[in-house]
Amino acid sequence: MSKAVCAFKTCSCKIITINDSNVVNLPHHAIETFHLMRKGTQDAASNPENSDFLIVGDVWDFDNIGVSKDIPSSDITELNKESATVTEGSTTYTYEINYEGKTWTVTKCVKYLICADCDKGPIGMICEVINKDTASDKRLLHLLSLESVTH
Ligand SMILES: [Zn+2]
Repeated sequence: MSKAVCAFKTCSCKIITINDSNVVNLPHHAIETFHLMRKGTQDAASNPENSDFLIVGDVWDFDNIGVSKDIPSSDITELNKESATVTEGSTTYTYEINYEGKTWTVTKCVKYLICADCDKGPIGMICEVINKDTASDKRLLHLLSLESVTH
């Protein structure tokens, strides 16, 4: 297990200890869709298809995290709520997350995660998700972009 810290050396605020079993792959496009900060271009080049996100069920699991104001609705309408997909040209990106043995469909991203100390970001988002199998099981998940932090 490694630690995620703020990518800015002058800050280096400790964000969370990364539990590798809660790291999921989302389409790399998620970084652009949700306007997340990138710490550099090397990572993007080495893994252009997918981006790693740490899924965190409870905000108190973070050592330090900041939460932005609500994401403007104009930023989230790109997501097709039925299938959690974004279509751009001929490519469809799917936002589904396997967490705690269930498959969750991202329906909406409500807030951004930012550094608790320096407010830099966004480094992730808080999403409303529904259980793909039951559709009645709704919750919030925190998605920390591992491309946006040092670890
Ligand atoms: Zn910071």
